[in-house]
Amino acid sequence: MAKRNIKELSREELASWLTERREPRYRADQIQRWLYRKGAASFAEMSDLSARLRGALDEAFAVSRLRTLRSDASADGTVKFLFGLTDGLSIESVLIPEAKRLTLCISTQAGCGLGCAFCATALMGLKRNLRSSEIVDQVIEAARTLQPGVRISHLVLMGMGEPLANYPQTLRALRIMTDAESGLGFSARRVTLSTVGLVPQIKRLMEESRVNLAVSLHATTDELRSQLMPVNHKYSLAELIECCRSLPIPKRRRITFEYVMLRGLNHSAEDARRLSQLLRGIRSKINLIPFNPHRGSPFERPTREEIEEFQNLLRAQGHQVNIRAPRGDDIHAACGQLMGVSSETVSSEQLKFVHPPHASLLTPH
Ligand code: SAH
Repeated sequence: MAKRNIKELSREELASWLTERREPRYRADQIQRWLYRKGAASFAEMSDLSARLRGALDEAFAVSRLRTLRSDASADGTVKFLFGLTDGLSIESVLIPEAKRLTLCISTQAGCGLGCAFCATALMGLKRNLRSSEIVDQVIEAARTLQPGVRISHLVLMGMGEPLANYPQTLRALRIMTDAESGLGFSARRVTLSTVGLVPQIKRLMEESRVNLAVSLHATTDELRSQLMPVNHKYSLAELIECCRSLPIPKRRRITFEYVMLRGLNHSAEDARRLSQLLRGIRSKINLIPFNPHRGSPFERPTREEIEEFQNLLRAQGHQVNIRAPRGDDIHAACGQLMGVSSETVSSEQLKFVHPPHASLLTPH
C-alpha cells in the first residue's frame, strides 16, 4: 500500500500520531517546520529528530514533492511553472515579481468546471480537485528556485481552477499557508482568494479564514454575466452583491472586484454607472483586467484608451480602480491563459469541441 503523505496531516493529526508513540506534541511543530519552512524532501534531513523517530516516520509516511516538468521565464520576469502530479495530470503556478512584492499565483484544481467563456482553463474542463498538499507544494517548489534571501511575499489563489469549488482542501491549504507557528507563515493579509462567486462558500470562507477576497464580476447585467459565466444562472448578480454587502470585512480591508475588459461588451458608460450602483456601500476596490487572448477565443482586448476611459468613469464615482498589468503573456502565463500544457499542444479540434462559439457575444452593444 502506498504510504500516506505526511503533508496531508493537520498539525493536530500529526501531534496525535506522535503522542500515540510517546513522543511530545511539540515534535509536530518541529516536523512541520522542516516540511514547510525548510522544504525538506525526506525525513533523513530532519537532523534534530532522533534516528528512531525518523525511522518510524519514514515507515509510516511519504514526503510529497511536485515534479517540475517545465519552467518558462517571460521577458517581464514572470516565471510559469508546469508541475506534474503523481497521476500524470499537470498544473501551473506563476511567479510574478513586482517592485516591492513577489507574488505566487497558485492553482486549486486541475482544469476547471465553471466554464467561463473567456478563460483558457475552462477549455480543459475539470480534471480533478487538488489535494491540500498539492496546493501547498506549489509554494514550496516555487520557493526552491529563488536565490538565497529572496522570499515570496504574497500568495494569490488565482491560477487554474475555482478554489471555492474545492472548499475543504483549499481551506486546509490556507490554514497551512497562514500558520505562523509551523506552517508557511504568510500573514492572511498577504493571501488573496479569487472566486467566480459561489455564494454559500464565500460566506463560509469569511467565517473560517481571514484571507482577502476577490470576486470575479465581469458584467453588470444578469444577461451578459450569464452568457460569460454560467455560474450566474445559479447565483445571480443581485444574490452575489447582497452576499458581498453583508460580509464582515475586517477594518482597513476591502473586497476586490475583478472585471475582465472585453472589447465592445462590458465597458460602456452605462456599464460604469451600473457597476458603481452595484458596489455602492461595499468597502471595495475594482481591478480591471485587460482580456488576455488565447487560441480559440472570440474576444478582444479594448484599447488602452478605452480601458482608461472606463477607469475614469468609475473613479469619478469615487471608486478605487486599478488596471492589472498583463504579466507573462508572452509565455501564456497571464490571467486566463493557464491550460496545464503549453497551449500549442492543444489541438483546434479540442478547442472546437469544448468551447462553442459565443456568436451573440461578438456583436458589440
Ligand atoms: N476561479 C477563480 C480564479 C480564476 S483566474 C475566479 O474565477 O475568480 C483569476 C481571474 O482571471 C478571474 O477574475 C478570471 O475571470 C480572470 N480571467 C480568466 N480568463 C481571463 C482572460 N482570458 N483574460 C483576463 N482575465 C481572465
